[in-house]
Amino acid sequence: MQVFHDEDANLGLLEGRQIAVIGYGNQGRAQALNLRDSGLQVLVGNQEDEYAERAREDRFRVLPIDAAAAEADLLMMLIPDEVAPEIFDRQIVPHLGDGKAVVFATGYNVAFGFITPPPSVDVVLVAPRMIGAGVRDLYVAGRGFPSFIGAAQDYTGKAKAIALALAKGIGSTRTGVVEVTFAQEAELDLFTEQCFGPAFGHVLTTAVNLLLEEGYPPEAVLLELYMSGEFAYTLGKIAELGLVGQSALHSRTSQYGSMSRGIRFILPELRLKMMEGLEEIRSGKFAREWAAEQEAGAPTLEALREAAQSLPLVQLEQELRQALRDAPTAARMEILNQAPGAGTQPAPRSGWLGRSVDRLRRSLGRSEREAEAHLGALTERQMEEVLRNFVSQAEESAALQAFGQGRELTTHYLLRDLGLEFYMGFHDGKVSAKLGPPPSPAEVRLETESEVLDGMFTGRINAMRAFMSGKMSFSGEAKLAISIQQIQDDLCKLYTEARDTVV
Ligand code: NDP
Repeated sequence: MQVFHDEDANLGLLEGRQIAVIGYGNQGRAQALNLRDSGLQVLVGNQEDEYAERAREDRFRVLPIDAAAAEADLLMMLIPDEVAPEIFDRQIVPHLGDGKAVVFATGYNVAFGFITPPPSVDVVLVAPRMIGAGVRDLYVAGRGFPSFIGAAQDYTGKAKAIALALAKGIGSTRTGVVEVTFAQEAELDLFTEQCFGPAFGHVLTTAVNLLLEEGYPPEAVLLELYMSGEFAYTLGKIAELGLVGQSALHSRTSQYGSMSRGIRFILPELRLKMMEGLEEIRSGKFAREWAAEQEAGAPTLEALREAAQSLPLVQLEQELRQALRDAPTAARMEILNQAPGAGTQPAPRSGWLGRSVDRLRRSLGRSEREAEAHLGALTERQMEEVLRNFVSQAEESAALQAFGQGRELTTHYLLRDLGLEFYMGFHDGKVSAKLGPPPSPAEVRLETESEVLDGMFTGRINAMRAFMSGKMSFSGEAKLAISIQQIQDDLCKLYTEARDTVV
C-alpha cells in the first residue's frame, strides 16, 4: 500500500508560481484559503457576482476567468463539472501557455473525454475525499483529510510532484494521499454514488417498510435503524477500527447473531447489479446519458427528485426529528439538527404519530390493501383477462404509438405472485403487446406483485414511488424504464377500461 504524506511533498516547488483558483464555491473557497495560509500565491478567477464579492471579502485578488488563466501558472478548476468543459474550452485553453498546469478536483471530465487539454501542459488531479467546509475546518484545526492525486499528462516531468505539493498546500498530506488515474477516481466516485450508495439506501428502506408493515411503531423503527445516530457512530467506528474490529464494541449476543445470520444476506444478485452499474460507468454509457439528460434540461432528474420527496419516509423522518427536539441528550440533538430540513417547521406536540401511521397506511403494505379493499382484489383468472384486454387495446392506442415514434423499446412485465407475464414493444411508431414473454430479450424488465401493478395502473400507487420504494424491481436500461412514466396516464386509462369490462 502506498500513501503519501507531508514528507513526500515539496511546497518549494510552487514558490513564486501564481496559482489561480477558478470558481469560489465549496471547494474553491476552502482550497484557496488553505493554499494561501500555506504561504502560496493565490488569486481567484470568477465572474462578477456574489462569489467574486465573497472572495474579495476574504482579501483575494479577483479576475475574470480568462484573465486569471492568462496570469496564472497553475489553474485549479473548481467550478461545477457540468459547466467546466465549456468554460475550459472558451476561457482557459486560449491562455494555456507551454508548461502550465491545469488541476482538477475530479477525474470526470478528462476521463470521459468532455475536456481534452492541449498536449503542452501538465494535467493534474487533486481530489479531496472531503466536502469543502471540511477541507477548510480541518485545515484550520491543524488536521488533514485524505485525497486522491494523479497526473493524466506530464509535460514538465513534474506533474506528480505538483499534485503532491498542492495536496500539501491544502492540508491533505497531513493525513495521507493516494495516487490513482483520472479514470479510477471518476469510476470509484460514480460507483459509490450509483451502486454502493443506492444499494445501501434500499437495504435501509426495505428494513423500514418491512418493520412498519409488521406493525412496529414508526418512531421506534426509525430510531432503531438510524435516526438515533447510533448507526452513524458505528460507521465512524468501522472507519476507525475496521469492519470486524468494531464488532468488539457490541455485545456477545450481537456478535453471534450478526455473524451467524449475516451469511443469509450474501446475495449473488447484489454483486451482479453492482457489476452492471460499474460496466455502465466504465464504458462511458452513464456519462453520455447524463450529458444528454442535461442537454434536455434534466427532466428525468426532476421527476426522480419529485418522486423521492413524496416517499412517506421523508415526512416521517421530519416529524420524528421535530418530535425529538426536546430530547435530553445534547449529542443526539446535535446529530438530528444537522439533518437537512430540521427545525424548519413548528414542532407538532401531539398527533404526529397518528398522522404518520395514517399516511403509511395509505402508502404501504398490508394496511393499504385493507384500506383499498373496496376496489376488490382480482383473481388470477380475472387478472389474466384484464391483461389480455389491456394488451390488445394497447396495440391500437394512438397515444402509445406516438410514444413509440423513433423508439426501440420492449418492456417485459412479470407478476411474480401469479406467474403471469406480458410485454409491450415500441418499434418506431408500432406497438406490439401480448401476454407471455417477449419474442426477443426486452430492454426493460419489470417485476412486481399483481396487486402493485393493479394499483399502479388504476392510479392508486405512484409508479415512480413503487420503483423507488422497491415494490417493483427492474433490470435493464434505467433511463428507458423511467421514460415509461411519460405514458403512465395513457396506460392507466387503457388498463382501467380493460379492468372495467372484467370486474
Ligand atoms: P460549486 O458548485 O461550489 O462551485 C461554485 C463556483 O463555480 C462558483 O464560483 C461559481 O461562480 C462557479 N460557477 C458556477 N457556474 C459557473 C459557470 N457557468 N461559469 C463559470 N463559473 C461558474 O462547486 P464545488 O466546489 O462543489 O465543486 C468544484 C469541483 O470540486 C468539482 O469538480 C467537483 O467535482 C469537485 N469536488 C467537490 C467536492 C464537494 O464536496 N463539493 C468534493 C470533491 C471534489 P459563479 O456562479 O459566480 O459563476
